[in-house]
Amino acid sequence: MKGIGVILEKLGIEDVNHGVTTGQSSWESGGALLESFSPVDGRKIGAVMQASRGDYDRAVETASLAFKSWRSIPAPKRGEIVRQMGMKLREYKQELGTLVSYEMGKSLQEGLGEVQEMIDICDFATGLSRQLYGLTMHSERPQHRMYEQWHPLGVVGIISAFNFPVAVWSWNSMIAWVCGNVCVWKPSEKTPLTAIACQHIIQDVLKDNSVPEGVSCIVSGGRDVGEWLAQDPRVALVSATGSIPMGRSVGETVARRLGKSLLELGGNNAIIVTPTADLKIAIPAIVFGAVGTAGQRCTSTRRLIVHDSIFEEVKNRLAKAYGQLKIGNPLDPGIHVGPLIDRQAVAQYQNAAEQIKQAGGSFVVAPGVPEGDQYASGCYVTPCIAEVENHWAIVQHETFAPILYLIRYSDADEAIALQNDVPQGLSSAIFTNDLRDAERFLSFGGSDCGIANVNIGTSGAEIGGAFGGEKETGGGRESGSDAWKAYMRRQTNTINYGTALPLAQGIKFEI
Ligand code: NAD
Repeated sequence: MKGIGVILEKLGIEDVNHGVTTGQSSWESGGALLESFSPVDGRKIGAVMQASRGDYDRAVETASLAFKSWRSIPAPKRGEIVRQMGMKLREYKQELGTLVSYEMGKSLQEGLGEVQEMIDICDFATGLSRQLYGLTMHSERPQHRMYEQWHPLGVVGIISAFNFPVAVWSWNSMIAWVCGNVCVWKPSEKTPLTAIACQHIIQDVLKDNSVPEGVSCIVSGGRDVGEWLAQDPRVALVSATGSIPMGRSVGETVARRLGKSLLELGGNNAIIVTPTADLKIAIPAIVFGAVGTAGQRCTSTRRLIVHDSIFEEVKNRLAKAYGQLKIGNPLDPGIHVGPLIDRQAVAQYQNAAEQIKQAGGSFVVAPGVPEGDQYASGCYVTPCIAEVENHWAIVQHETFAPILYLIRYSDADEAIALQNDVPQGLSSAIFTNDLRDAERFLSFGGSDCGIANVNIGTSGAEIGGAFGGEKETGGGRESGSDAWKAYMRRQTNTINYGTALPLAQGIKFEI
């Protein structure tokens, strides 16, 4: 890519980079080299030295030591440091957003949007640092005061996925830091350079504020490094974002040592389109939800549940819209659909298309792999639409690619049952102008997902709300609202300021 050299230089990315850091310093780690290739044009961008077990241990030891001093810094002061990180991210937004786009393959606008999310969460965390509220309760015993307070946990391990290579780290780390924790980040092995860039961006803030070494660590590597975090009793909380099999493995491993985990896993998100839906807004929302980030968002729209009476119309309008999609270099602003992350993802897309055919599905818009110089990386696919049945195995499974399933319904109960009838429970939406349909969808008998929207699509969430999903999506919540509580331990305190010792529940004990 033209101009990438200047961007890499500004972000401090070299041909070979230290992949293990404890914040202000890094060292030549003992693991094998991990190379990063851009799915945009197939070029090698750079490499990182992965963590060996010894490097990993050194990082976690440094982090554990740093926790002892970091936790004693008042939360609003920690918030001030996070505020400064937000200022740095503003300064490097263009460069980091471009690298996210080039290394991961999402559009430049989405790359910049991802950095904006990081900036927003810094602002949110700064405010939060003065609002880590506990409750005060009335004690049943005279001259007693009872309250709860929140203390930091310790080392928070962050395992992140390739599709939001930097934002997920900030959702976790900025909140974890103001809560008084230290962080050890295991970024996706598919996007190792964006992680190193983040560390470079915040490095001066760490130095200028004399933040203890180890508050912000990175341990680069693959699945094995993630497994070390999951197994490690020194890691109080493992926040893991990625596929359901990964979450199952991390969840089980952490549970075996009775640790805490926060799981943000795959989705199988649906939009219900009712007869009263305003198709003027529904169609663009569906198309963006299904093809944005080439269908590689956890909240991408995968299933469309459409009422019989408007099924043909919706189908035809979608086919027309898909006919106008431009596939190509995501850094070009005229392009709608960029590449998948790698050729393996293309093979999974092709395999899914084959399974759809075998199950009896018919394609409204055919799948394909475009050819030509601009697609030479071999990572591009054509977004497709298939008429299917919800219960088919392939439809029940999250394929991380731009495949949209069309499903019919005839009454409102059936639509909600279809929407809920998948193992995942992340995001959902309904397009309707009928108040009853909308309220029913949002009620306890409606969508069973962590996110349920009316007249906006499934993808794209604001940082102010708690983000996450139910069932096989893992149940975790991060980012806004009171998601910070997952990063702290609650302590209930009772203070007796009287001269007697009354026991609770009126129990008498005389000696
Ligand atoms: P992935 O599961 O292949 O990898 C995610 C991370 O987990 C990587 O860092 C990887 O090295 C690590 N990992 C893999 N197996 C592990 C194990 N057994 N133990 C410890 N660590 C392990 O996922 P991916 O392909 O990078 O990302 C796509 C998936 O992530 C999709 O399923 C998507 O829906 C999901 N995702 C979910 C959310 C959410 O918030 N719910 C957000 C983004 C992505």
